[in-house]
Amino acid sequence: MANSSKNRRKVHVEGIGRKAELLMRGFMRLPLVNRWHPWLKESKTDMRWLPINQDIDMPGDAPMPVDLLHRLIDEASHRVIMDYCGCRKGWKCKDYPHEIGCLLMGDSALEAQRFPFREVGPEEAHEHVRKAVAAGLVPIVGKARADNFIFKIKDRHRLLTVCFCCECCCVTRFASYAPLQYLEPTFTVLDGISVTVDADKCKGCGKCVKRCYIGAVEVDGRKATISEYCRACGRCAITCPTGAIEVKITDPDFLEKAHEQIRSYVQYD
Ligand code: SF4
Ligand code: SF4
Ligand code: SF4
Repeated sequence: MANSSKNRRKVHVEGIGRKAELLMRGFMRLPLVNRWHPWLKESKTDMRWLPINQDIDMPGDAPMPVDLLHRLIDEASHRVIMDYCGCRKGWKCKDYPHEIGCLLMGDSALEAQRFPFREVGPEEAHEHVRKAVAAGLVPIVGKARADNFIFKIKDRHRLLTVCFCCECCCVTRFASYAPLQYLEPTFTVLDGISVTVDADKCKGCGKCVKRCYIGAVEVDGRKATISEYCRACGRCAITCPTGAIEVKITDPDFLEKAHEQIRSYVQYD
């Protein structure tokens, strides 16, 4: 991986969207904001991307990353889904379904307000995940303090969030303005996962740069490089027309470790 990214996201939208972008960029730049604002404090937020189940080089018969979600669904005390996605509605998403929204789990999920959530059984929750992944959405799972605020739920560490993220509208794209020291502890990369570019196969087309909403890819000298900002979502790999980007999981226990981390952080069962 490259050591840094010079090419992180620039504010490019117009109108009211531009104001929101500038606001979030300014927020991320406030002095020591990760020490005092709950949304960025590592004791209050711990989320991780599960790369989409395509083109992942896996060790042996290790489970696919999305299997972690199915396990969490089976263990959860309650599951609550939203049949529309506020981000995609709000930003008038053209590429992904508006009717697939967040999945909340744990006792606190039942307290969700402001939006029309409904409690579902495990089968319906599994189906929600399958539909989201089939639509090309990337799950982000863990505890997000921002959701306690957004859904008016008291933070008792009993709310597990799953966002089905699109690169164009998901609120998490504002992480592209965050410095690395904010990202590392709060938006953690899965254990034992790597994303690399095969320079011989790369044609420098830049499609991966456009697809990476975190601003972790740049093309320099007609070759793509990936910086340490990469959160291993896998989008660039499925976008690359020449198959130059490889998502590889080397640790056969990656899922077990992620599961343990989530369990130790938030009570959802
Ligand atoms: S957090 Fe994700 S699933 Fe939830 S409303 Fe935003 S984009 Fe949709
Ligand atoms: S999409 Fe593939 S070929 Fe194009 S710049 Fe990125 S890695 Fe290279
Ligand atoms: S570089 Fe690729 S895998 Fe890494 S965050 Fe960007 S799109 Fe996702």
